[in-house]
This record gives sequence, structure tokens and C-alpha cells, in this order.
Amino acid sequence: MSFPPCPSCQSEYVYQDLSHLVCPECSYEWNPQEVEEDDVVKVKDANGALLADGDKVIVVKDLKIKGSSQVIKIGTKALVRRVLDKKDHELDCKVDGVGEMMVTAKFVKKA
Ligand SMILES: [Zn+2]
Repeated sequence: MSFPPCPSCQSEYVYQDLSHLVCPECSYEWNPQEVEEDDVVKVKDANGALLADGDKVIVVKDLKIKGSSQVIKIGTKALVRRVLDKKDHELDCKVDGVGEMMVTAKFVKKA
């Protein structure tokens, strides 16, 4: 039986201690079941990097705001307040100079 690599240092020498997995190299301990549940929402940015609540991102293309003539310019910074499990507009963001709005993950990248 093999275990997933250490989420902290990617070591492969992970062993099991009761319900936890333990990394001998950085002594990180975790419960593999909890990790899987936390991982359900997988939303990726323009570069394929996973986004999480609280990430700072940069808009990578001009985005029209629905129902408005306003445009979010490329390079605008935003804070991801929440990542949602949706097909698009997955990111509940606070956008600099615009305010709160839903943004599609593939139109941003991690700052
Ligand atoms: Zn480790």
C-alpha cells in the first residue's frame, strides 16, 4: 500500500500512524480523509494554478461588466473572497476600483 506524498514537502516516505499520515522528513501530520474533503472544489487560474479563498489575483484580459459600460482592465488586482463550485464566474472577488463581483477563474492569474 502506498500513500500520497507529503502535502507540505512532497516527500514520498510517508507512513501511517493510526488514522493519520506522518512525514518523517518535515514531521507534518495530516488526516488523508480531511484533505480529500477539502479538495472538492478545484478552480484553476489562467496558468492552471489552483485558486483558494483569500488568494490575490490579477486580471489577465479586459473584462466587460454585464449590464454596464464599465470594463475591468487587464492588470487589475482582485482579492478572492470565496471560490465557488461552478462552471464559470467561480470567484467571488473584491476587485480594485470596482467592488464585489463574480469573476471567471481562467481570466485571472495568481498575483
Ligand atoms: Zn513532509
